[in-house]
Amino acid sequence: MTAAVRTTCPYCGVGCGVLAQPDGSLKGDPAHPANKGRLCAKGAALGETLSDAGRLLHPGIAGARTSWNTALDLVAARFRETIAAHGPDSVAFYVSGQCLTEDYYVANKLMKGFIGSGNIDTNSRLCMASSVAGHTRAFGADVVPGLYEDLEEADLVILVGSNLAWCHPVLHGRLQAARGERGTKLVVIDPRGTATSAGADLHLALAPGSDVALFAGLLAHLAGIGRVDQGWVAAHTTGINEALTAARETAPTLERVAALTGLSPEEIARFYAMFAATERTVTVYSQGVNQSSAGTDKVNAILNCHLATGRIGRPGMGPFSVTGQPNAMGGREVGGLANQLAAHMRFDMPGAPDRLRRFWQAPNLATRPGLKAVELFEAVLDGRVKALWIMATNPADSLPRAGRVRQALAACPFLVVSDCWETDTTRHADVILPAAGWGEKSGTVTNSERRISRQRPFRAAPGEARPDWWMLAEIGRRMGWAKDFAWESPAAVFREHAALSGFENGGSRSFDIGAMAMLSDEGYEALAPFRWPLPAGATEEGGRLFAAGGFPTPDGRARLVPTPFRGPAAMPGADYPLLLNTGRLRDQWHTMTRTGQVPRLSEHAPVPAAALSPGDAEALGAEAGGLLRLASPHGETVLRVAIDPGQRPGEVFVPMHWTDAFTSSGPVGRLVGAAVDPVSGQPELKATPVRAEALPVR
Ligand code: SF4
Repeated sequence: MTAAVRTTCPYCGVGCGVLAQPDGSLKGDPAHPANKGRLCAKGAALGETLSDAGRLLHPGIAGARTSWNTALDLVAARFRETIAAHGPDSVAFYVSGQCLTEDYYVANKLMKGFIGSGNIDTNSRLCMASSVAGHTRAFGADVVPGLYEDLEEADLVILVGSNLAWCHPVLHGRLQAARGERGTKLVVIDPRGTATSAGADLHLALAPGSDVALFAGLLAHLAGIGRVDQGWVAAHTTGINEALTAARETAPTLERVAALTGLSPEEIARFYAMFAATERTVTVYSQGVNQSSAGTDKVNAILNCHLATGRIGRPGMGPFSVTGQPNAMGGREVGGLANQLAAHMRFDMPGAPDRLRRFWQAPNLATRPGLKAVELFEAVLDGRVKALWIMATNPADSLPRAGRVRQALAACPFLVVSDCWETDTTRHADVILPAAGWGEKSGTVTNSERRISRQRPFRAAPGEARPDWWMLAEIGRRMGWAKDFAWESPAAVFREHAALSGFENGGSRSFDIGAMAMLSDEGYEALAPFRWPLPAGATEEGGRLFAAGGFPTPDGRARLVPTPFRGPAAMPGADYPLLLNTGRLRDQWHTMTRTGQVPRLSEHAPVPAAALSPGDAEALGAEAGGLLRLASPHGETVLRVAIDPGQRPGEVFVPMHWTDAFTSSGPVGRLVGAAVDPVSGQPELKATPVRAEALPVR
């Protein structure tokens, strides 16, 4: 047997190490610090997703096979012509947390540095943009202070809007093992009863969107009982008085918190007492916090409580955002969001654009943020964006108001899609570029605890499929910037990214991997997982951050941010009396292009189903397994009924995964509204008013 190749799972943000053989047999990597040999059901089935059947094999123009040269020449020419006629903001890239950091780096350099537009956004906007915005407001940069071992060293773990058992199974396994050993208490804050809440010491099934009220009440409570760490707060933060004033206005009493959250005063008091009494507390938050029109305030309401108690950056304590996608974090490091610049710089950071211009010798550096995901597709529809390249993502199913997104794709004058498989998005493409997939391409990803790991190839890409960074560099060269896009390997791209992170101190002080700037090709091949920061001269990977302050703000202090309460953008009413929540299943990934190939992964949930509370099902006359039509102001779909005692009355949960390939009635994205958080631009994927109608079973 040949030696196994060390690579990294392409699914969730835990970032598990995988040992893979060319024949697709694989197991968890015992040497990888994230998983220490464990894999979840999805990761263990990766070998069954490697068939060449159904792959996009050759470039295509208008449905006809063509050569790479012809396809790339056409893309470069149409982008050049569009920019010449309508300006740089008439073109855009929409990329993905599936992209490797090297892909992201090249895409950002091309769009923001050379084309001269901020119009590159990513499907990670749907995943963690509110955490990015919350971190930036509080810490001065998008830096995650926590480590996975904090969950094992805590005495209390609070999971907010996180079904960790299904969405980050290996991290959940680590937490459960630690609970068995040290008796860690677990509080789950989630409107739904889930596999995660089933094992909790306390489950707070709060009203959707009321997290800010709960944590504002906690901040006010901590101050009221003298549990604010006055010394730490005075030394390392600003804004406590303003944050406390807002918190007391929102949540002056337990009864008021109870009224806003739908929880009982007793439940709330028990949670507050647990938090106040437990120094080693970690608060993990995920999509239930981020995917909200108040997502950034939710994040800051959580951060405020940890900053007020100085519980950050020490073993077993801190706020901890866990990302959905395998490289949501890596994309953030190189400016993967439309409002970011590379190396954790921002457009509004004094001197940052100039530093980036000097480093890239960029002729046309963008001067302002570009369009965020939801508004980007609106701009296609209203004609502002006329040429769009979509990379490794399927917005025809996954974006809010998916029907409207499909109209935009159909109307786009020039649409390029690079992907591994046909999707509901590729069918609208003028040009299709076949992409190399997991196991075929080489690069790096960063997991939720800032650990950079290699993805390595162990099989040949089928047909003429090529990596995304290569396609982007080819377009850069063909658009006239040959020397600036001259890399011949992902290792060369990585070195440039590392050099930029330390250039003129250009990155956040907390993000710098300058030690990797001189890495040889052999060193890149052998690169072991490591955590940032790792600046030039450092020999140890980055550990916990901020225990002694040192925040990347101008004064080195973190900011407590006032978070006035507001509920979801739209609430149920007479026409749409239920609230729709969307999310993941345990064994599927996104729009199922990969996991949908594995029959045993579908055994867990074989058909699209909408989960109703028993009372709502009875009121609707809906029976388990029967059909249910769900409609919102934006569209409708038909699903099977699942009756779930874990559902709060008045709410319905539908998985996000099903596409036209798996159901004739369309994806749930058709129903989801387009409200976004005003700070982060993240869509409200968990609170859309809908109506339901039980249909006769055919
Ligand atoms: Fe992959 Fe996440 Fe499962 Fe680990 S926990 S094997 S990264 S899907």
